[in-house]
Amino acid sequence: MRAVAWEGKNKVKINNVPDPEILNPRDAIVKVSLTAICGSDLHIYDGYIPTMKPGDVLGHEFMGEVVEVGSEVKNLTRGDWVVVPFAIACGRCFFCQQDLWSLCDNTNPNAWIADNLYRFSGAGLFGYSHMYGGYPGGQAEYVRVPFADVGPIKIYEDLRDEQVLFLSDIFPTGYMAAENCNIRPGDTVAVWGCGPVGLLAMKSAFMLGANRVIAIDRVTSRLRKAHEECCAETINYEQADVLETLKELTGGRGPDACIDAVGMEAHGVGPEYMYDRTKVALMLEMDRPIALRQAIHACRKGGTVSIPGVYGGLIDKFPIGAAFAKGLTLRMGQTHVHKYMRLLLDRIRRGDIDPSFVISHTMSLDEAPAAYQMFREKTDDCTKVVMKP
Ligand code: NAD
Ligand code: ZN
Repeated sequence: MRAVAWEGKNKVKINNVPDPEILNPRDAIVKVSLTAICGSDLHIYDGYIPTMKPGDVLGHEFMGEVVEVGSEVKNLTRGDWVVVPFAIACGRCFFCQQDLWSLCDNTNPNAWIADNLYRFSGAGLFGYSHMYGGYPGGQAEYVRVPFADVGPIKIYEDLRDEQVLFLSDIFPTGYMAAENCNIRPGDTVAVWGCGPVGLLAMKSAFMLGANRVIAIDRVTSRLRKAHEECCAETINYEQADVLETLKELTGGRGPDACIDAVGMEAHGVGPEYMYDRTKVALMLEMDRPIALRQAIHACRKGGTVSIPGVYGGLIDKFPIGAAFAKGLTLRMGQTHVHKYMRLLLDRIRRGDIDPSFVISHTMSLDEAPAAYQMFREKTDDCTKVVMKP
């Protein structure tokens, strides 16, 4: 089959690889109908995620048709149409039982690598390095889905793939980011990053009762989407001082909650950006927490900073003093997709939201090298690429 393989920093290509096979009784094989590139894939593409090997198959947002099931998968049959969550969870361990699916204790066969870095490992992930299990990903014609009796949800109704695909990751991610803000009616939520995750966090913040959303980015097409599709007020951080503007917009008090939907590869202006770039280049720092620092500084006293943006290692100049002095709540982590899929499918079904609004480009899987480059550079007003095998 054809699959998108990581070949090194900023290099992906289409490889012919063996078709996946059922290895365990709880596996299923899914024939992919639609897959997408995620902002998290860019961290791999840009060489920030350790333990990738040339030839590793990428992709963790995918859906399609079940073509084969293992003997213990009783809830799926051939021909079912499913969306698959990006984290792999056993459904039986202490963490799965508490709805903390992305922290599953049983699905990362390489947990020892993550143990060395973080002392504990989270769940295995599709297409996301050997540290997270080395599972081949979904930017391919077929995928082996382990624990298929637990993860995939069936789509029965007449919904387009584009409407439900993002249940695999970015819709639950945006939603959990907003839910983590403990939004009360009337709240103002500021969101750093108008990528797909940020946009879906904005929509989710309104669904959960926010009164105002303020979006921050520098890419004009994305800021426009935030304004036109998500009813957000916008700040271009290259044209305005973010902290001052947020203060002005909130009567001097600051947003009630701040969402960092940017993560480790933040861009910035001025000496702070140079500082982080240099320290990362010298390997004295692993991530560039520019949006995160701003979110902490901007947030009102007693507010919440929610961090869906991915961080991988050690950061510098983390304003713990400001966070402490203001009594902030910080919430973060890999999304517990399983917890949200059914709830959010209902939202889509009811017409509360159509997440396909984030898609700017539909391409063929064979165009993956160009798709990755475009999504990374944000050229041609690219906000999200979906690919058909
Ligand atoms: P993306 O790269 O498309 O979007 C990031 C956006 O942030 C871009 O539009 C960029 O211009 C903007 N940005 C950069 N620096 C900024 C700054 N200083 N201030 C404001 N905006 C800035 O990515 P995405 O797909 O939207 O994903 C966003 C983040 O969420 C990534 O870190 C991704 O890895 C992460 N993510 C996490 C989970 C999870 O489970 N927690 C799931 C999916 C994605
Ligand atoms: Zn993702």
